[in-house]
Amino acid sequence: MSLALKGIKKTYPDFTIDVSVTAQKGELLTLLGPSGCGKTTTLHIIAGFIKPDKGDISINGKIVNALPPHMRRTGLVFQDYALFPNMNVSGNIAFGLQMLGWNRTDINNRVEELLHLIRLPGYGKRNVTELSGGEQQRVALARALAPSPGILLLDEPLSALDARLRKDLRRDVKRIQRELGITTVYVTHDQEEAFAISDKIAVMNDGRIEQTGNSFEIYNRPETRFVAEFVGTTNSIDAQVAGKTGMIYELKSLCGRFNVKFQGELTAGLKVSLLVRPEKCVLLDKGRTEKVNNYSNIVEGMVSNLEYLGDSTIIEVKLKNCVFSAKIPGTVPIDTGETVRIGFNPDDCWLI
Ligand code: ATP
Repeated sequence: MSLALKGIKKTYPDFTIDVSVTAQKGELLTLLGPSGCGKTTTLHIIAGFIKPDKGDISINGKIVNALPPHMRRTGLVFQDYALFPNMNVSGNIAFGLQMLGWNRTDINNRVEELLHLIRLPGYGKRNVTELSGGEQQRVALARALAPSPGILLLDEPLSALDARLRKDLRRDVKRIQRELGITTVYVTHDQEEAFAISDKIAVMNDGRIEQTGNSFEIYNRPETRFVAEFVGTTNSIDAQVAGKTGMIYELKSLCGRFNVKFQGELTAGLKVSLLVRPEKCVLLDKGRTEKVNNYSNIVEGMVSNLEYLGDSTIIEVKLKNCVFSAKIPGTVPIDTGETVRIGFNPDDCWLI
């Protein structure tokens, strides 16, 4: 089923949600953003637990604003599993089906099918309190999927688990979502998780969606400073448009002149921020083979900090009005206090 939120508004005394977003049939849409940006509220508006002040929620092209939660064909998985502790695994998975009046044989068959899907065959009679966190969350997923919802809603489903288990389970979630072809809205504050599983990401900030796109677009072409900074480290240099040759804009700044490939019309004198990711930067000279004249953008400054990360080193260089970071593979033969040159290409930076 497809999903569309059009002009959804909900105002609380200290907070306003204002979102429009769509998910195609079978798509996994992630709402990504920091704590308190309105992700759960948006999910609960889709599920029907919260009524918006304005706007339309459409499922498969039909406006469902007036439908109660159980009529919307959505299945919700909570962060803290919310399993029924007095029931065994089968009882938890079967609960919704009993409410819908399914007969005993059909319920048993469906529960068996789901136990295989979540890779817990033979676990039906176990008490849920005896299961690990990861197993409990898989049972919660099966419970939500049992009545074959058209849209699956997952609210930070992995956040209570340790890092290793989170990675294993997110693969399972993606596999199950693909296998069933179920339209899914996934809420998380973890950008790596969002990049790993999403077809489409909507980055939320303060009740609004700042940008919607696939993982590549969100990481490589963030449209706002918030998105750029929320999904990874970004260098930002204040600059002014000085001129244009073809698709390359020339910028002037306190740290020198830079070239940036940019589609769109910018007038000379316009104030912009030049953004470039640290991993797109190279260290010039100092035992490196990269040639200075291969890079039309170069910053030069004193190394203020070095962080060795095992497979790479972060070099922080003090420029006139900012600190610039470069992530260089392996180790580097330099010390803090030295002056270095860092290069990057017009293709690897962008403007906001
Ligand atoms: P988290 O990741 O911490 O769960 P979130 O992005 O899911 O955060 P929400 O739980 O949707 O954020 O909350 C967004 C904002 O809306 C918060 O500032 C919260 O205080 C406010 N809010 C949510 N529900 C209500 C309510 N019933 N009354 C007043 N304010 C509310």
